[in-house]
Amino acid sequence: EVFAAWRPAANTAIGISQAAAADPSPDKVDLSVGAYRTEEGRELILGAVREAQRRLEADPATNHEYLGHGGNPRFCRLAAELALGAGSAALAEGRVASIQGVSGTGSLWVGAAFLSRYYRRSRVALLSAPSWPLHDLMMERAGLELRRYRYYDETTRGLDYEGMLEDLRAAPQGTILVLQGCGHNPTGVDPTPQQWQGILAAAQERQLFVFMDNAYQGFVCDLEEDAAAVRLFVDAGLELLVAQSFSKSMGLYGERVGALHLVAASADVARGAEAALQELIVPMYATPPKYGAAIATTILADPQLRQQWQRELAELPGSMLRRRQQLYDALQEVGVPGSWEHILKQRGMFSYTGLTEAQCGHLMERWHVYLTPDGRISLTGLTGPRCRYVAEAFKDAILA
Ligand code: PMP
Repeated sequence: EVFAAWRPAANTAIGISQAAAADPSPDKVDLSVGAYRTEEGRELILGAVREAQRRLEADPATNHEYLGHGGNPRFCRLAAELALGAGSAALAEGRVASIQGVSGTGSLWVGAAFLSRYYRRSRVALLSAPSWPLHDLMMERAGLELRRYRYYDETTRGLDYEGMLEDLRAAPQGTILVLQGCGHNPTGVDPTPQQWQGILAAAQERQLFVFMDNAYQGFVCDLEEDAAAVRLFVDAGLELLVAQSFSKSMGLYGERVGALHLVAASADVARGAEAALQELIVPMYATPPKYGAAIATTILADPQLRQQWQRELAELPGSMLRRRQQLYDALQEVGVPGSWEHILKQRGMFSYTGLTEAQCGHLMERWHVYLTPDGRISLTGLTGPRCRYVAEAFKDAILA
């Protein structure tokens, strides 16, 4: 035999969304997709992005030459300022090593590879139960041992804060702690600012190495508040990794725009780490894609365009909240058994419905309502007029 036994393809949200796209049923509703859709169900290209594209097109300096291994340095700096704050002491002290990644996913992967190769204190990665499935997959593929901390409480459908702290405090010294800065995927459950303080204290106590995934900055509340958790850890003087994505905040999903920042203890460590990160990138893909990062740079560097972007982005969290309310109202009207308050309380793009895998299967097969098998729905896949249909489908799946 030439090949070892294949592993089946992972059941990802993107895979399910493609199955939904191929479904000819006029009834279908795709709640699996982790991308913004307008309240009319359309893809969204922000006006600021269109304007940046126009400017790039008109600029005689635009070309298709390679970027360096670490990507576009201007983009990296602007992205770091967006994540850490323009006044960040770590940035001013030159303690931040940044590379442009292949969006959030690619940045996480470079970070995982970096820890696997260079981090000396532990080979254990501690992930929330549950976490975004790609976190599991990446940490495992990077050769790290997976362990879990309690996070989602089935009974309250909120955060198991006490359980989480207990698990962090029981972790071996130096363990890698994977956190999501805001808009937790898949649960939609985030710690409060006060709870973040407790998480920081536990991380300090056990000297945990924090790997912060902040893919939803600007998508949950606003650009500042959604960066607060990241900045709390950085400003407390911890060394940490931050993975950043512009998929959601600029709607640049397919252009793969993101960055990885290592906040180091000293400028020397940061310089060495930047070279080490680039060395890891060389055999992976050599250089990241150029166009999307040029769009993001054009927006971030121009005060007027940046303001336009911020205005447009500020509309999106409210739109997702409206759809939470519409779904909740429809579930009440249709009389779907169970309590659905959590749909209103959870935040960001996702809600963790509590539907079982079998119920999710029923929804997809009988009702053409697509969602990931863990019961996660993306609020952005909902339009007002379809909420009632989705509620009827939930009722049928629950009573089936
Ligand atoms: N982290 C989390 C938690 C996510 O939900 C996502 C998007 N689904 C990402 C990272 C990365 O997305 P992208 O690769 O498009 O930046």
